[in-house]
Amino acid sequence: MKRTVFLQDENAVWLKGNLHSHTVNSDGSLTPEEMKEAYKHHGYDFLAITDHDFYSDTRNMTDADFTMIQGFELWSNAGNEKDIHVHYLWEDSIEPLKPNETFHLPERTGRVATAFAYEMRNKGCFVQLNHPHWSMLSVEDIEFDNPYHAVEIMNYGTEWLENTGDGSVFWSEMLYRGNKVWGTGGDDNHNHYPLDDMYSDSFGGFTVVKARDRSSKAIMEALFTGSFYTSTGPSIYDFYVEDDEIHVVCSPCERIFISGHTRPYQRKLGRHVTEFVTKLKGSEKLVRAECMDAAGRSAYTNPIYLE
Ligand SMILES: [Zn+2]
Ligand SMILES: [Zn+2]
Repeated sequence: MKRTVFLQDENAVWLKGNLHSHTVNSDGSLTPEEMKEAYKHHGYDFLAITDHDFYSDTRNMTDADFTMIQGFELWSNAGNEKDIHVHYLWEDSIEPLKPNETFHLPERTGRVATAFAYEMRNKGCFVQLNHPHWSMLSVEDIEFDNPYHAVEIMNYGTEWLENTGDGSVFWSEMLYRGNKVWGTGGDDNHNHYPLDDMYSDSFGGFTVVKARDRSSKAIMEALFTGSFYTSTGPSIYDFYVEDDEIHVVCSPCERIFISGHTRPYQRKLGRHVTEFVTKLKGSEKLVRAECMDAAGRSAYTNPIYLE
């Protein structure tokens, strides 16, 4: 039996996207139209404009080659007053929030924010905890309730700004504790510098979905089901468990790690490693892979649950 999180459909397409960006509708420097053109010309297939506390309606900007995903980023506090930024993403056919209007929670507390997150889940939104390292969160801060489909494990904007964009350890800890959450990545770009400047915060962290087609509905389905990987460079072409063997296929890397809900990890090292086939230890509740290239950039699969 073959088990995988990637959509098994011979007509499926791989689509590269940025799930996190800010425009002049909040604290970014580009208009939504300029942002779309920048990402389209950089080889991306989809983009979510996620302004702070403001839903920028971009449904009429989707074209034959490029899909806009709807969403926004909400700011609130946990019980201990740390900032929590939560992402809401959705497909075109629903309208969980009034377009092009500032939105504020009645209270910026963790409890009100969590109730709102469940409400938005019920309306069909994908709910994601953003940049936990930048927010200085520990897993205990969100464990009183976990409404999240995903945690953002790569946030390029805060990585570029303060070296705090890597949420992969936070994600590991959530998984160790039995939370079932996917790992996403995005730029969180504000574009206060030109796109070709070395200080540009665009084009660093991305999510690649394997989807039925290019529609916002199909891309959202891929996010909900974990049919995607997150990367700052390498590509992952396949990841599955068949009988008692784990298979990973990727672009040339130097290290491939397989991890589970606990140690031990498994690894393969080399100059141009593009495949790793290894046996399950037998006790794993889940397995996932990280593929790291010679420049230290990583691609992460979502977990395959074996229970
Ligand atoms: Zn944020
Ligand atoms: Zn942001």
